[in-house]
Amino acid sequence: MKDTLKHSGMRNKLANVLIDKGIVDNKVLDAVRAIPRHLFMDSGFEGHAYQDKAFPIGADQTISQPYTVAFQTQLLELKPNYKILEIGTGSGYQTAVLLHLKARVYTIERQLQLFKKTSIFFKKMSYRPKKVIFGDGYKGLPEEAPFDGIVVTAGSPEVPKALMSQLKVGGRLVIPVGVNEQVMALYTRKTATEFEKKEYGSFRFVPLLANKN
Ligand code: SAH
Repeated sequence: MKDTLKHSGMRNKLANVLIDKGIVDNKVLDAVRAIPRHLFMDSGFEGHAYQDKAFPIGADQTISQPYTVAFQTQLLELKPNYKILEIGTGSGYQTAVLLHLKARVYTIERQLQLFKKTSIFFKKMSYRPKKVIFGDGYKGLPEEAPFDGIVVTAGSPEVPKALMSQLKVGGRLVIPVGVNEQVMALYTRKTATEFEKKEYGSFRFVPLLANKN
């Protein structure tokens, strides 16, 4: 598969759909206009890549809906060089959005098959996360903490304490919380011991699972 003018035209339209749905961060919209989402999906789904929908990517997982990716990224309020931890590498699309915004990205995936496939894809595409880790995102990544931001891209029954503890003061954790349906929550670390919590709309994610390893 290639990236063509037709695809970039579809991306512009998708960015306009996201604007209509309330995405206002121009850097996030630029990332949507730039990143060839169709290449993150199996070729059979190419025709759907620029609809605002989630799609299967194998191993019972999905590539998140563009609106969801844009909304979560917008909540992170990224600045260049921010150190960001992503839980749930999946297709790598959210990772690519974070990289486009010049973040230093550490990303964790618990499904071996997806971890392998997406690691190879990143190399092929010259996307350069700092680390792609096969492991359990519940535990975060203590050896690289603290982070300016942590984004969880699977529905979490509760907020893992490890992730809260790995935020810098001023850092932000964006996490969809809930079992069947999730509320998007933003935790900002105000001091070593205090967090501010804000809640946004409801979303639907595949579940964050504890590791089998
Ligand atoms: N960010 C991805 C979204 C993929 S869906 C994208 O843009 O495509 C969520 C992903 O989280 C799935 O790939 C799933 O395997 C992974 N996941 C679920 N539980 C996890 C855990 N405990 N640790 C790490 N990844 C997990």
